[in-house]
Amino acid sequence: MTISSVLIANRGEIAVRINRAAKALGLRVIQVFSDADADSMAVRLADDSVRIGPPAAKKSYLNIAAVVAAAKAAGADAVHPGYGFLAENADFAEAVIAAGMVFVGPSPDAIRLLGDKVAARRLAELAGVPTVPGSGGRIADLAEAKAIALKIGFPVMIKAAAGGGGRGIRIVASLEELERQFPQASAEALAAFGDGGLYLEKLIARARHVEVQILGDGKNVVHCFERECSLQRRRQKVWEEGPSVALPADVRERLCLSAVALGRAAGYSGAGTVEYLYDDVSGDFYFIEVNTRIQVEHPVTEMITGLDLVEEMLKIAGGAPLSVRQEQIRLSGHAIECRINAEDPARDFMPWPGQIERLVIPEGAGIRFDTALYEGYHVPPFYDSLLGKLIVHGSDRADCLAKLRSALAGFELFGIPTTLPLHAALAADPDVAAGAFHTRFLETWLETAFSAGSAKEVA
Ligand code: ADP
Ligand code: ADP
Ligand code: MG
Repeated sequence: MTISSVLIANRGEIAVRINRAAKALGLRVIQVFSDADADSMAVRLADDSVRIGPPAAKKSYLNIAAVVAAAKAAGADAVHPGYGFLAENADFAEAVIAAGMVFVGPSPDAIRLLGDKVAARRLAELAGVPTVPGSGGRIADLAEAKAIALKIGFPVMIKAAAGGGGRGIRIVASLEELERQFPQASAEALAAFGDGGLYLEKLIARARHVEVQILGDGKNVVHCFERECSLQRRRQKVWEEGPSVALPADVRERLCLSAVALGRAAGYSGAGTVEYLYDDVSGDFYFIEVNTRIQVEHPVTEMITGLDLVEEMLKIAGGAPLSVRQEQIRLSGHAIECRINAEDPARDFMPWPGQIERLVIPEGAGIRFDTALYEGYHVPPFYDSLLGKLIVHGSDRADCLAKLRSALAGFELFGIPTTLPLHAALAADPDVAAGAFHTRFLETWLETAFSAGSAKEVA
């Protein structure tokens, strides 16, 4: 390794996760924090910590100048951005490199290329990866949008070229709706992402979300199989698992190789995820986007392959070639991850910050809880509501589900409402047990099968 220290430009569970991987490699860890995070687990675990600003993310975790200055002042050799915040910001990666440090992730050019969802679609097509039928590039105006929509057929999705986190996507069922929504979508994308660019995709109904984990060292790219993340609310993942129950072996092979082809075409370095929609009736898959960072649900892949993806990222950033060859990466058993958020399922998932009064984490073989929580910790109101991720590994999916039910039953997290009851209800649901779901399943299920009151009894 040519790096001996790393600054973590993030907070919460992912900061703790990166800390542990860095420590395991013998690196000195420097943690940035806002005023809201002075008492955080990530700060406690770090060798050094640097205050970067007030609670508002814009003035702290999104402040490129403050983060780079903190890294320089602390003598960091490298900067790990985690996910969210500046993780997919090419200007940040460039600023880190310009200041003489290593950015733990792909090159700024690769981030820029793949982070533009329209440019990434084009690259996918060039690499022979099937994309969702839609516009060839950014759409110039409403007239062009109408022509394309008529050609591909309604319903269509208007998507922001710079979108992410489930935002910047609208479903449009008719020409009239398109006329109304297109200007609004453009204005919103400009306000939210600083880029009003839009593109169109055909709506793939009842599709499953499958995504391939890739690792690259700039020369070679390998895949670490897929995760399925079809259980979503508002296009955000709630429950993820791997491998996907819906993929026949030959489709899995083609899907994973297509992600490798795309990674190669981009000269990819570090950990990345290539996302697809999969139609389990026709057997077709369609590329949707690339996330050029570590993903929230990366532990699912770690549980079924035995790899440590964050260690891999740090080693690659230190200049090492990939430590594994494709044929050495093998699937073992099944893993499920539940995202546990500080939200009240009974009040339309309203975020609910506050004090953690009691925390009992279930333990046992194949059970992992990635978190930054401790008893007495006060969850601040300024950031994402993710409290932790429960990941369970079993010999097969049925074994995994059984272990998950028992882990959820043994989980005690009191003080604030959480999404634990939702997960207990999902883990007990026959359709979920059968793997019979798609990306709109959870929203319908929430309206029909789920009542937060009865779920509390289950949990
Ligand atoms: P994953 O794809 O890893 O499951 P998510 O979509 O849940 O990740 O996003 C991870 C985090 O990054 C979330 O906190 C999400 O709100 C945030 N995020 C992702 N993309 C963007 C973006 N373009 N702008 C703002 N926040 C984003
Ligand atoms: P983000 O950048 O916000 O993660 P994605 O393009 O990855 O956006 O899409 C997020 C989710 O939106 C997908 O997982 C899927 O549920 C839904 N989605 C996206 N594109 C389509 C499409 N063309 N048809 C149907 N659903 C889609
Ligand atoms: Mg996505």
